[in-house]
Amino acid sequence: MTFDLIVKGGLLPDGRQADIAISKGRIAAVEPGIAADAREVIDATGKLVSPPLIDCHFHMDATLSYGTPRVNASGTLLEGISLWGELKRLQSRDAIVARALDYCRQAMGKGVLAIRSHVDVTDPAFRTVEALLEVRDAIKGKMDLQLVAFPQDGWLRAPGAEAQVIRALDAGVDIVGGIPHFERTMADGAAAVRAACRLAAERGLMVDLHCDETDDPQSRHIETLAAETIAFGLQGRVAGSHLTSMHSMDNYYVSKLIPLIAEAQVAAIANPLINITLQGRSDTYPKRRGMTRVPELMAGGVLVAFGQDCVMDPWYPLGSGDMLDVAHMGLHIALMTGTEQMRRCFHMVTDAPAQVMALDFGLRPGARGSLVVLDCATPIDALRLRPARLSVISDGAVVARTTPASTEAARFG
Ligand SMILES: [Zn+2]
Repeated sequence: MTFDLIVKGGLLPDGRQADIAISKGRIAAVEPGIAADAREVIDATGKLVSPPLIDCHFHMDATLSYGTPRVNASGTLLEGISLWGELKRLQSRDAIVARALDYCRQAMGKGVLAIRSHVDVTDPAFRTVEALLEVRDAIKGKMDLQLVAFPQDGWLRAPGAEAQVIRALDAGVDIVGGIPHFERTMADGAAAVRAACRLAAERGLMVDLHCDETDDPQSRHIETLAAETIAFGLQGRVAGSHLTSMHSMDNYYVSKLIPLIAEAQVAAIANPLINITLQGRSDTYPKRRGMTRVPELMAGGVLVAFGQDCVMDPWYPLGSGDMLDVAHMGLHIALMTGTEQMRRCFHMVTDAPAQVMALDFGLRPGARGSLVVLDCATPIDALRLRPARLSVISDGAVVARTTPASTEAARFG
């Protein structure tokens, strides 16, 4: 038999050495020394071969807009939201599409083959939604894009926001979003969580809320989200993004909260690059790190993934679309320097987000033929070096190649 593609001699994230054969876009075999012919052979001897990198929390309608119409002077979430309010009235649909496609190519070159992007549905002209639906079609077959109907200015706080969420879902947006900590009162926040879960249950959809992205330990919308997930029977279909208030919560309360999140099978998505810069802004010293309790959630049986969130937009001036940068920062903030913990950080930008997004990725026969060959040998070295993605393969086709840079340094003595 002739396969479409064989990746030879690579090292899998668990350390095994194996060839991977792909046929008709699917992985046909993962075993040492596959002898069959293939239309294309990639020599990955001694190189890490990984499932695709995945970003399960992003804002593609704002990306690469940094400085338009001005920069965020305070660096806070709230100034970012008001700056985005100015930008979204100015930008054309074509500009959003062009920036998003530019970003997708950059991310694909870094081995990212799936992105979940929130899309602000409170743009009255609806340009954001129309633009990202166009982008989803344009990248189909190379990258997966899941869209979340995100009422940036609040489900209840922004007039007509619920109708705009429904309009976006009717237009083909995949997932129900929300931002309960931005509502005017805690009660409104809880009502917004309930409304989002009800709508998702009625339509058989997933939920992904910006939840408790604040240093206020009293921001407990994640508790409501977990309880409503159980009440509406949405277990396994809901994610809470950010959850930064948990960093500042009372330990006893958290000891009760994490088992509730686990029981509801609500996934947690931490965004380390963004929250290490947005949180703690009102602190003098010590300054809180702000990221949610990643190792504790994992130990409690909660599915935890890392997201990029922002690249050069009203909230964050940096970023490169590289999920290894994200995992590198997450590892540092969470103090996850144990050997197994570092391996878990790699998992949180590959397998864990695939599970959050219900994608059939993984290095096993039958899964989608999508993988990345990296210029290093182990997942820990991938985090340490963030090396070139030598080959990026999507559903059996090579979609990006990178030649590693080489350095000639003088010898001493
Ligand atoms: Zn976000």
